[in-house]
Amino acid sequence: MTLRNETHDPALRSWVASANSAGADFPIQNLPFAVFRRQGTAEAFRGGVAIGLEILDLAAVAASGVLHGSAQAAAQAGGQDSLNSLMSLGPQAWSALRLALSQALREGAALQATLAACLVPQASAEFALPARIGDYTDFYTSIHHATNIGKQFRPDNPLLPNYKWMPIGYHGRASSIGVSGQSFRRPVGQTFPPGATQPLVGPCKRLDMELEIAVFIGPGNAAGEPVDMADAEDHVFGLCLLNDWSARDIQAWEYQPLGPFLSKNFATTLSPWVVTLEALAPYRLPFTRPEGDPQPLPYLDSAANRNHGAFDVELEVLLQTQRMRDQGQPAAHLVQTSYRHAYWTIAQMVAHHTVNGCNLQAGDVFGTGTLSGPTLDQAGALIELTMGGKQPQTLANGETRTYLEDGDAVVIRGWCDKPGAARIGFGSCVGTVLPARPC
Ligand code: CA
Repeated sequence: MTLRNETHDPALRSWVASANSAGADFPIQNLPFAVFRRQGTAEAFRGGVAIGLEILDLAAVAASGVLHGSAQAAAQAGGQDSLNSLMSLGPQAWSALRLALSQALREGAALQATLAACLVPQASAEFALPARIGDYTDFYTSIHHATNIGKQFRPDNPLLPNYKWMPIGYHGRASSIGVSGQSFRRPVGQTFPPGATQPLVGPCKRLDMELEIAVFIGPGNAAGEPVDMADAEDHVFGLCLLNDWSARDIQAWEYQPLGPFLSKNFATTLSPWVVTLEALAPYRLPFTRPEGDPQPLPYLDSAANRNHGAFDVELEVLLQTQRMRDQGQPAAHLVQTSYRHAYWTIAQMVAHHTVNGCNLQAGDVFGTGTLSGPTLDQAGALIELTMGGKQPQTLANGETRTYLEDGDAVVIRGWCDKPGAARIGFGSCVGTVLPARPC
């Protein structure tokens, strides 16, 4: 587990001036990774590191030959068209690259002239998914979300007895995961509306978003070889933002007995920038359990997890309707909450996922599940915010929403900020709902 080192020093400043602005998402203490190319070109996608409003092109840095040893090996791996190779190298290599880039991007660095030639403005870039995602597992780690949803689907029995004993999850679909900027057609599916005598097929009428964090897996584990809590975070490359679009009417009819299926697998959107766990070191928190709740079983427990297994990431959801875009209005604030409220940690997700011998691979994604906070105004999905569609939300321009309408764009933002540490931003995750395919 990485604790604070010289790369976290809040006094560090970069020769890239935009990295030093107050409120910048990508100061020199962050250094997140993405896969990009210049917009409108046939250039190869390659890995890059955000610094201020620029991207440091890792392929160009590697080709310049100015880094050495494991930092150079990591830059070469990161310069490929996906980050899977870099992810598979492990924390020592990631950390060596982070330190080398931190030193080279600081004010007064001898490498300034060389690296300045490797910068591409973010405004002129387009992004690809950070990795080839082999498998996607979605967890359910907010007890507040699980309880709120459970009340709607099973009023008598909202929280099932296994919830406080293990991180619940299901296997999702990797093929329909897209990068921020994704737009997708409203899904068509089978529903059983109240009062109907038989199911219908047609466009989803209760389309929802889910505010989540995505966990990118680094080095995998061999089949049959569980990952212990002590090693779990060594298998985690970093975090980004995730919107798990959900068709609630389809979900309500299909989910029993095997869980979500077509209500979830039509689209999932990720933010392009992956923030490393090392960058988040100043924002770790103790993992705690409410009084009277069961303590984790030994395979889900460690002193390090208890001391600093949780992360304090602020999360915000905004909604921009078609009318707002037509009238030049910004997206309207919908919700703000924090990842600190999750009931299970990242290390616990890894340990639980592999306890049966399941093998993870570099580039796999875990969703945390909807990260609702303790109060309903901190809920990460419309089904909670609107009490199942019964209480419409009024937006800043006077429009109201129960569920998402065609043309709606959902924007998720994430950041960490506190005195004594540099702000660490995640950028944003944007996805837009298109009309259903005509049936
Ligand atoms: Ca979800």
